[in-house]
Amino acid sequence: MALEIGAQPAGHWSGCHAYAIDYQRSRIPEGQDITPLADARNDYNLGVQVNVNGVRFLDEGEDLRSYISSRYGARLLEQPQGMAWQIFDAKVTHLLTDEGYRTGLCVTANSIEKLAEALRTPGLTETIDEFNAAVQQEDIPLDCTIRDGRGTVGITPPKSNWAQKIDTPPFVAHAVGCGITFTYGGLTTNTRAQVLDGQGEAIPGLYATGEIVGGIWHNGYGGSGSGLTLGAVFGRIAGANAAGE
Ligand SMILES: Cc1cc2nc3c(=O)[nH]c(=O)nc-3n(C[C@H](O)[C@H](O)[C@H](O)COP(=O)(O)OP(=O)(O)OC[C@H]3O[C@@H](n4cnc5c(N)ncnc54)[C@H](O)[C@@H]3O)c2cc1C
Repeated sequence: MALEIGAQPAGHWSGCHAYAIDYQRSRIPEGQDITPLADARNDYNLGVQVNVNGVRFLDEGEDLRSYISSRYGARLLEQPQGMAWQIFDAKVTHLLTDEGYRTGLCVTANSIEKLAEALRTPGLTETIDEFNAAVQQEDIPLDCTIRDGRGTVGITPPKSNWAQKIDTPPFVAHAVGCGITFTYGGLTTNTRAQVLDGQGEAIPGLYATGEIVGGIWHNGYGGSGSGLTLGAVFGRIAGANAAGE
């Protein structure tokens, strides 16, 4: 409606905030309501993530999850069938905190060979062997609350932090797909939260804040709490200015 009256678009209209969520829930037909956060599976930093061929395709330890999870959801769409398996061993399964791990598609096995067979991912055994051999910094204490620098050596992609061997049965695999949380494109606003037209002039009486403001996020999100902070800060400014008109 704002664009129709001449508002200027801003931001990354082909970008979005997207998480890894339960694969089956990511396939729900358009129009049905789901709550993506309840299905989020963003604890990949505790294990590895492989595609349907059993091949790793990203650095599960690139950074703390609040900085990278919003980008990593879309990476799943680049994989065959738009899906991946997150593989964990018994050392970490009790640390999986996201709600999405309590429901949905999950496979357990007592060896990596049996897991590979159950998942029909032929390359999985080789991938885990290669990954385990690359975990060589075991003298660095594992600490998931900081970037602990406990990275792999000699594999591509690396796992830059929190690398730990996957060697303790039972092994568990959770299927993940992409779930869009919100989109990045929106309207151009000024510091008074007024919406601007194509000439950069404020459109009288039109204010915007929060999700509809463009140009804030591009290829990634600002980190936990940024969305609500944006809405609250510019919501207050917009309200005060509108009331003063
Ligand atoms: C699953 C999920 C998890 C999130 N987690 C976090 C988080 O942990 N931390 C964080 O900071 N942010 C989070 N966000 C982002 C955050 O929720 C949003 O940035 C924020 O809610 C945006 O606020 P808003 O007021 O701009 O929009 P909204 O909250 O979407 O409010 C817009 C309102 O306008 C109403 N509306 C729409 N059209 C009309 C109309 N024609 N007439 C009248 N009313 C209308 C809608 O019903 C709605 O109530 C999350 C978002 C989602 C979807």
